[in-house]
Amino acid sequence: MAVVFSKERVGHEEVEKFYQFCKNSINTEVASYLEACVRCGICAEACLFYMGENVSGRIDPTLTPAYKADLLREIYKENYTLLGRLKKLFGFGLKIEPEDLKEQVRLAFYTCTNCDRCTKACPMGIDTPKLVSIVRGALTYAGLTPKDLADATNMSVEKGSPLGVDTQTFLQRIEFISEEYEVEIPVDKKPSEYLYILSSIELMKFPASVASAAKVLNRAEVNWTVSSLAHEATNFGVFAQSKEVTKEMLRRIVEGARELGIRYIIAPECGHAYQSVRFIAPNVFPEEWTFEVLNIVEFIDKMIKEGKLKINKKVLKERATLHDSCQIGRRGGVLREPRRIMNMVSEDFRDSVLIPEHNICCGGGGGVLVIGDADYYRQKAFISKMTLFDKAKAKTVVCYCANCMLALTKSSQELKRDYRFVSIVELVAEATGEE
Ligand code: SF4
Ligand code: SF4
Repeated sequence: MAVVFSKERVGHEEVEKFYQFCKNSINTEVASYLEACVRCGICAEACLFYMGENVSGRIDPTLTPAYKADLLREIYKENYTLLGRLKKLFGFGLKIEPEDLKEQVRLAFYTCTNCDRCTKACPMGIDTPKLVSIVRGALTYAGLTPKDLADATNMSVEKGSPLGVDTQTFLQRIEFISEEYEVEIPVDKKPSEYLYILSSIELMKFPASVASAAKVLNRAEVNWTVSSLAHEATNFGVFAQSKEVTKEMLRRIVEGARELGIRYIIAPECGHAYQSVRFIAPNVFPEEWTFEVLNIVEFIDKMIKEGKLKINKKVLKERATLHDSCQIGRRGGVLREPRRIMNMVSEDFRDSVLIPEHNICCGGGGGVLVIGDADYYRQKAFISKMTLFDKAKAKTVVCYCANCMLALTKSSQELKRDYRFVSIVELVAEATGEE
């Protein structure tokens, strides 16, 4: 049964629902962000969508981060400022038309990946992605989630994964990977200290990455397992901003992990999955969430430091640069770890940014990759991204998020570029193999 909808017809009922959701989402923190904007425009140059158009010779002011929160700001003013209330009282209130909501879908779902780069640039410290997330939530509440994203979100709830990977498919796929790559992958081993959760994108499209993670976990000699219940790390409820779906997907992880007596959850090469289990889950399940969460890159770095994993060789010979996952890197703070690893596995690593926090998003995060109608914007965003690869003079780009790899590969092929995208965990698996 669908829990997220994608209505084709937008009427006044949807406008009213959108309005009420926005109004009710304004707390002190949100109000301070909405009040603090001085319209300086600095965030424009931080946004990969705005920059992508700019590099292509077009200026589209609607892609400025501050503009993406403008309707929410108007709703705030109308309800929470004296002037706004007076205007409404005398019949000069906001008039939101159904067409306006279609524009909000474009702004919030097609042209924002929740990458947080604009927040870092804003002199007032405004968390624009938080504001855009409220707009997303309001659109989802009104039944206006983009169709591709709504379908994938509903598939997650129904089958267990946005790609339709149910428990049986998961187990078959694990068996296949285990045989094909000759690696032991324990399933539902009880008790286990570490639970490795997977993204179905890796499972179905990058099996070598799953096999590599298993090899690394085995070589570190930790007591680990995957779970037939808590197998899906992705959480499309976060993209759609549906609290119901977010909670349901996390519930499966909580139950699976508790059942196996887990202490550490290892999140895979998937940005929003890390956000979901590391930062959202403890707030959704304050009592039950007793686990420590590590991203697989953090885990590898920790094991190397503790002497439990040994890098035996530099496996990457050609010039290579690093693409940071915004959710694991900029938002999650895991930026030094992948660079330490890169310096160990690569002979010619060249960073594309002086300050790691400044790296640019792949263009497909926040669910943008699955939304077909957002392809134009994703490709433009890739043009911003390419400027960094070219600055580093690198054709080989190492990633630590499967969604980033998929988005970058897709955009690179569509724009007929010859970059090669490689998983950092695969490099570590190779580098920790026999000398
Ligand atoms: S979060 Fe990223 S994509 Fe969204 S408006 Fe800010 S810079 Fe642009
Ligand atoms: S940088 Fe901050 S203050 Fe300036 S326009 Fe953007 S959101 Fe507003």
